[in-house]
Amino acid sequence: MGSTELAALLADARSCVVFTGAGISTESGIPDFRSPGGVWSRYDPRDFTFSRYVRSPEVRELSWRMRYELWQSAPRPNPAHRVLADLEARGLIVGVITQNIDGLHQDAGSRRVVEIHGSSRDVLCIGASPRTGTPQGCGFKAPHEWAYELLEAGALDPPCPECGGIVKTGTVSFGQNLYPDVLEEAGALTRGADLLVAIGSSLQVHPAAGIPTTAQEAGAALAIINDEPTPLDDAADLVVRGRAGEVLPEVTRMIDDDNDRSRSE
Ligand code: NAD
Repeated sequence: MGSTELAALLADARSCVVFTGAGISTESGIPDFRSPGGVWSRYDPRDFTFSRYVRSPEVRELSWRMRYELWQSAPRPNPAHRVLADLEARGLIVGVITQNIDGLHQDAGSRRVVEIHGSSRDVLCIGASPRTGTPQGCGFKAPHEWAYELLEAGALDPPCPECGGIVKTGTVSFGQNLYPDVLEEAGALTRGADLLVAIGSSLQVHPAAGIPTTAQEAGAALAIINDEPTPLDDAADLVVRGRAGEVLPEVTRMIDDDNDRSRSE
């Protein structure tokens, strides 16, 4: 239901931008925040604020354990990620703005990916005691494997090898400022869109969740693919209720069938 309309919207769009949330990665085995059995039924979100991470070695140890656990599960892109990469390669979408930090869009082959909440694929020094929600590190940066190798060797909270400061993944935690250059790129993409497709997001975490509304205010149509209702359903031009990994392959099949029909006419 709704896939036909979405295929038509996509085929007609001049500049389609996709906005994704944790729901696009659940079919890769990465739990989202709100569904039962999600990350937050095993870890306490209050632990993962920027200020608590800075203040508490125990919170850092817990955070590294959670990251390591997710990394060890070796998540791979699912059909939804792959369809988006394919649609970009075919020129049907301009890029993806994601709230996810898992890097699966890039693994699937997406090229223009704006990660508004950063990435767990990198780690960086945030300094000894940054106070304002902004990392103030010495510039040390490494792939996340750097930390996991140290954890495997017994470290609980690996310090910066260059200045001894605190190391953190390149993710934006609760209470941490979003990176201005990333926000600017997301804003430019959003305002230039004539169609915004929001996929697998509860559209409740702000400011990221304001992106669909910003796009609409700039004149874009809004389509939502989600397996449960969102606060923007009533304002959307189209809502497709279903799993991203099933809906998106169906949508591409419809676009392909249409193209085949046009060619044979
Ligand atoms: P959310 O957990 O608030 O909402 C996810 C939404 O996706 C829910 O409405 C859920 O019903 C829906 N959903 C779940 N599986 C789906 C599927 N297969 N198909 C369609 N819909 C599906 O996530 P959010 O809106 O992204 O916001 C919460 C924050 O979670 C974000 O800031 C993000 O950084 C963070 N997060 C990211 C990851 C990740 O990187 N994979 C994982 C957990 C949380």
